[in-house]
Amino acid sequence: MPSSEINRREFIRVSAAGAAGLGLLAQSGGAEQASTPPAGRKPMVGIQLGAASLAQDPGRVLDDVGRRAGVNTLFPFIYSHVSTWAGLPAAGFRGGNFAVPHLEYYKDTNLTFADMRAPEFGDADLLARLIPAARERGMKTFAWILEDNVRPPVAHWEALYEVDFHGRRTNRHPSGPCYNNPLYRGFLLGLVEDYARSYEIDGLMWASERQGGLLNALGAYHNGASADPGQATCFCEFCQQKARSQGIDVERARAGFTALEAFVRAGRAHRRPADGYHVAFWRILLNHPELLAWENLWVRSREEVQIAIYHKVKSIKPGLQVGWHLWHNVSFSPFHRAEEDYAAMTAYSDFLKPVLYSNCAGRRMQQFIESTRENVFGDLTDQQALDFGYRVLDYNEAPWDRVATTGFSGDYVRRETQRTRDAVAGTATVVWPGIDIDVQWEGVGPCTPEGVKQSVLGAFHGGADGVLLSRNYSEMKPENLSGAGAALKELGLM
Ligand SMILES: [Zn+2]
Repeated sequence: MPSSEINRREFIRVSAAGAAGLGLLAQSGGAEQASTPPAGRKPMVGIQLGAASLAQDPGRVLDDVGRRAGVNTLFPFIYSHVSTWAGLPAAGFRGGNFAVPHLEYYKDTNLTFADMRAPEFGDADLLARLIPAARERGMKTFAWILEDNVRPPVAHWEALYEVDFHGRRTNRHPSGPCYNNPLYRGFLLGLVEDYARSYEIDGLMWASERQGGLLNALGAYHNGASADPGQATCFCEFCQQKARSQGIDVERARAGFTALEAFVRAGRAHRRPADGYHVAFWRILLNHPELLAWENLWVRSREEVQIAIYHKVKSIKPGLQVGWHLWHNVSFSPFHRAEEDYAAMTAYSDFLKPVLYSNCAGRRMQQFIESTRENVFGDLTDQQALDFGYRVLDYNEAPWDRVATTGFSGDYVRRETQRTRDAVAGTATVVWPGIDIDVQWEGVGPCTPEGVKQSVLGAFHGGADGVLLSRNYSEMKPENLSGAGAALKELGLM
């Protein structure tokens, strides 16, 4: 069959799917025009998978994901010290690089081969084994690097980590390795160069599921209530030096974090400020504008790292696709959303993966509110804070007493996909929303095939160029993975 014929058939199928989508939107009250991937081009259907799924018989896994969900692109967690991302039991797990580090690329870091190399599978190079199995099946492979949420149990990693405003080295989320630390930059750029040069990958995705010290001190993220406001970062020697070079007063910033710590600790103890929580917060910002300058310093430093990754990979193989997994907190926190400017990212992004995990979104939204209701939103009730969030973030979801178990709807996925598409309009950057399948999270209702199907439909109705099935193949129930395939079939895309 000539390719023009395939294109014409695709066009007809996609057009029909678009029309079906419009009907569905009319039912749900959505006003925006439905859209689907460009005619003649199959959407990217990706899946994340850990080392455990690659170590045995990758062919069997690839056949399963292809059959159930039309997967055509693989995103192995190829460097990770986190057991759940590798899909392995926590006991005795060390992790690291599940490919083989080629030391010529790591001259600018202090980490050794033994520091980096995952010991779990002997001499096996899981990336080198995966790529031919993927190619045989017409699948692409993207190296997927998600920053660890706990400092690896390796001594040399300590020097790469952020320092809090009391001068203490941090060791876990919401802090992490410092973007201004040359040893961390050296490691990260070496890692992406290694993958780009040593393996026939098709692209690379990187993620920082973090934000700056001001928002961390507030615990302004899902599960943030347990964050220590005294551990806001980063005040390492490199960050201090950079701040001074930009005319930011380091000691005034430190004084701001000290005031913020006292405010957050009082709120956690339910001691309401005389003028109320919101007013007290704004007064701290007015008295210490360096807090915002420090936040911006952090955000810009991460952006520099992303730009450096992008140009490093492009300088080696311009055809490799480079993009970013964007932390779920963008869905809950208007503060963090402001830090993630998708339109600005198009200058250094071939693709964006906004995390739009609908099933766990309800409980996570509650957790964001439970944390910030002890400080910046302390004057509101749970339901008021939720209504405020829905309004400013543009959602129409379930009330407080139900949202944890119902989760968010496919309409949330559609709205956020549409917002992302609008931000990248007129550029070559494509949008691949992340869809959750059986993400384990305390207090969340069960994931279902229908829920997954509605999320995938929502993504394409919002104009997605593909979807990335998440978080990890090893935690997905087969029938729920098939729910993604059901949506693609309904859209005529599988
Ligand atoms: Zn630093």
